[in-house]
Amino acid sequence: MDRILNLINGQLVPPIGGSYLDNYNPATGKKYSLVPASKENDVAMAIEAAQKSFPAWKRLTKKERANYLRLLASGIESRMDEFALAECLDSGKPLKLARQVDIPRSVLNLRYFADELEKFDEEAYSDIGSGENVVHYSPLGVVTCISPWNLPLYLLTWKIAPALAAGNTVVAKPSEVTPMTAYLFSQVCQEIKLPAGVLNIIHGKGPDVGPTLCTHPLIKAVSFTGSTRTGKEIIKLSAPLLKKVSLEMGGKNPTIVFADCDLDKAVSTSVRAAFTNQGQICLCGSRLFVEKNIYQQFKEKFLEKVRELKVGNPLEESSNLGALVSKEHFEKVQGCVERAKSEGGVILHGGTRVLLDNEMSEGYFYPPTVIENLSPYCSTNQEEIFGPVVALMSFETEEEVIEWSNSTNYGLSASIWTLDLAKAKRVACQIDSGVVWINTWMLRDLRTPFGGVKESGLGREGGKYSLRFFSEMKNICTAID
Ligand code: NAD
Repeated sequence: MDRILNLINGQLVPPIGGSYLDNYNPATGKKYSLVPASKENDVAMAIEAAQKSFPAWKRLTKKERANYLRLLASGIESRMDEFALAECLDSGKPLKLARQVDIPRSVLNLRYFADELEKFDEEAYSDIGSGENVVHYSPLGVVTCISPWNLPLYLLTWKIAPALAAGNTVVAKPSEVTPMTAYLFSQVCQEIKLPAGVLNIIHGKGPDVGPTLCTHPLIKAVSFTGSTRTGKEIIKLSAPLLKKVSLEMGGKNPTIVFADCDLDKAVSTSVRAAFTNQGQICLCGSRLFVEKNIYQQFKEKFLEKVRELKVGNPLEESSNLGALVSKEHFEKVQGCVERAKSEGGVILHGGTRVLLDNEMSEGYFYPPTVIENLSPYCSTNQEEIFGPVVALMSFETEEEVIEWSNSTNYGLSASIWTLDLAKAKRVACQIDSGVVWINTWMLRDLRTPFGGVKESGLGREGGKYSLRFFSEMKNICTAID
């Protein structure tokens, strides 16, 4: 059985205490590798290694650091099939999704921040009355990057790339549920000869390693993506020590479909928004509000598309949905659907476990599930499920749908469907969220700020916003005579 190792000071090492956690393939329900159950002493070693490597790393020119990022990107790219397969086996997601989205985007994250770093420069402001001001950016030191299981390498590299680019050294903590591609990535760090200690990767359970990662005196900043519950825990640990913190957390995103939309596009994209990656993307649209006069028509077309989705072996090209990530998560999703029924929800599609044959017979497969007849205010529509479950509701007025959209504690993303772009913009401005898509979903320009409002996030990532987070800003003011 494969034993995953930590990356500390350029070496792949077992956890000091010698204990491991079981790692499962969710499509078979079988254990297939072991993950270090790291503890405080492993984290402390990683932080010390990062601190030791910081002076030399920060002294490199931007071009030299950018080149290391490009070498890391090429290192992943040259093992694309191996990375995609590892992501699929570890998380249950369809192999084609890992190959088309997760791994190419991880490569892009590294290349993008290499390019962005070369453009990231001092800003200058000058005026007779206020002098010549130069805003200078310098790295923070050692930073922590914590990432979740839904887009494992994609979100890990989304943090590591800007942190390293800005001249920091890093201790990263991938999810213990999906550690495999982070392990392969540590091998790439060795292959391309990334200087020892610049990036350290520690595996283990959040509560075992989290406190040291968030409170160690040498840690200057913590960048976290994951659930709102853990995000609150992280801020509780790090805020009293005045660490810089960036939090990307849960969502309960509305899709708003007005009667004057391109119906076919709205239907097919809303299906994608609800069920891509088994609904396990923070940006998935899980509350679908449809204007009353097209509700029946939309519902029929939507269900027709959902019936075409195949839940199956993630390795097969024909599978649209694979397995949910773990037994624990599968049971949570199942429980949420039972609760929806008790809240009066009517299941239009799905709602019971999908049983596959042979080696997949114990896999955690759950069908795309469509529910109607629920109030926008019930728990199903207020709490994040993070699975292939969507609630359909009809609305009558713009005011009503804005109020319903904003009724949760979350505020990550929203999609609006209408051909009236003035109305779309008017509604978009009133939605509480970090991003609003008009007639599309999950379209990203990596230069734009990404993040959430309310309990979905604190701070923004992307382009210069990430580089600024991972930098200290200093204004140098010279008198103008
Ligand atoms: P999670 O909060 O359980 O875990 C996320 C990471 O935090 C893991 O690496 C975990 O080990 C670690 N962790 C757990 N407890 C910790 C602690 N006490 N201290 C430090 N680290 C700790 O989240 P998850 O279940 O892995 O991911 C799903 C969640 O992530 C969903 O809520 C989803 O919406 C959210 N998410 C948000 C975004 C975004 O950009 N806003 C993107 C992807 C996922």
